[in-house]
Amino acid sequence: MSTNQSSEPLTCRVNAKGHLEIGGCDTVELAKKYGTPLYVLDKFTIKSVCAEYKKAFQAYPKMRMMFASKALCTIATSKLIAEEGFGFDVVSAGEIFTVYKAGVDMSTVLFNGNNKSFEELSLAIDLNVGRISVDNFSELETLNKIAAHKNKIVQILLRVTPGIECHTHEYIQTGHLDSKFGFDLSQIDGAAGLILDNYKNLELKGIHAHIGSQIFETKIYGDEVQILVREIARLNEKFKLNMNEINIGGGLGVKYTNADNPPSVEEIADVIISSLNSAIEKYRTGALVVYIEPGRSIVSNAGVTLYTIGSSKQVPCGTKYVAVDGGMADNPRPAMYQALYSALIANKPNSVENLQTVTIAGKFCESGDILIKNIQLPSPANGDILCVFNTGAYNYSMSSNYNRVQKSGMVLVNNSQSAIIVYRETLEDLISHDADELL
Ligand SMILES: *Cc1c(COP(=O)(O)O)cnc(C)c1O
Repeated sequence: MSTNQSSEPLTCRVNAKGHLEIGGCDTVELAKKYGTPLYVLDKFTIKSVCAEYKKAFQAYPKMRMMFASKALCTIATSKLIAEEGFGFDVVSAGEIFTVYKAGVDMSTVLFNGNNKSFEELSLAIDLNVGRISVDNFSELETLNKIAAHKNKIVQILLRVTPGIECHTHEYIQTGHLDSKFGFDLSQIDGAAGLILDNYKNLELKGIHAHIGSQIFETKIYGDEVQILVREIARLNEKFKLNMNEINIGGGLGVKYTNADNPPSVEEIADVIISSLNSAIEKYRTGALVVYIEPGRSIVSNAGVTLYTIGSSKQVPCGTKYVAVDGGMADNPRPAMYQALYSALIANKPNSVENLQTVTIAGKFCESGDILIKNIQLPSPANGDILCVFNTGAYNYSMSSNYNRVQKSGMVLVNNSQSAIIVYRETLEDLISHDADELL
């Protein structure tokens, strides 16, 4: 089984006390020591999935792994993932700055995004980010201007919409797609022509696409590869170029609940590699450097969130609500798009006594602040520790200070040890950016 096919961290087990343990650490003790809500991240799980990606793509030596930072971006996790030989896909000045401060080799970084600001592009050039994925015509012009002003040549990819739309469990192919990301395939000849004629400070290295997230299909990757290789070959021939890079994006799914059956890393690697080999032969491009940039599948199931259960209420003839001390500020995904999660009570994970179907409510002032609807738990009570699984990706990175709460801290666990990698915010942190000038 591949790491992304498990809904829990690989080191998750029940210890002698009957408590849930991750990375050799008792989660109930972690909650006591660091407070809740608490993000817990298992180092072994992240290392394992990185190793799986590397092994699965070994048969294609020009494969380059990048981690999509938007899934989780901290100094510690950037260091950890860089150690595994991964580069980074970044989408903001904040992410650029974080990986830079983590000591990441900036030549392995790709800056991506549909509306990069002048300041962000300038920072990317100043810090020698390896590739910039250019999204649209106006960005080409702005980027060339900045690069010319700095007297630099910037190596770019063109972000394209390959005409494949992914609805997670099924996908459709269309000629043109109404997407906010990238150039339509019908526009890239125009872009390439402009770069060659007018934008002398831009060097076109290849094309970039990303077909979606939480993907369960394997064939879609094969189709994407065919399209990108075909387009590279066509552009190279038409404009007498030697582009030799394609970036196929990320998107491999994870198992949030038992209903999810994502393919393994090896399965998508096999589809991608065989499609690459056949496309390279068919379109005679010569060997291509291929980037893949998974986010969710690298960190999702390495992470859990621990909450303390507070008040419960039974709506007469209705739902039993069990409230926790966090919610949409630390995990906005259920409120935003009905994302599903699974959970256990960390101090009695094996108990089947008095199972009740309850709804886990957050503490925030929104009716939509529900973390999990209709989950069976053994008599959840005030003071119990709830462990929600698969929160490593798009939880901390999407967290907010809604209701003026302090953002939760994050600890890394490994070999029975724990270390804080993100400090819980303090009340002073919360007001530290407030000015009190009254006009
Ligand atoms: C979000 C994103 C990714 C990562 O997607 P996951 O589903 O987290 O693997 C990769 N590339 C691009 C361009 C993205 O926007």
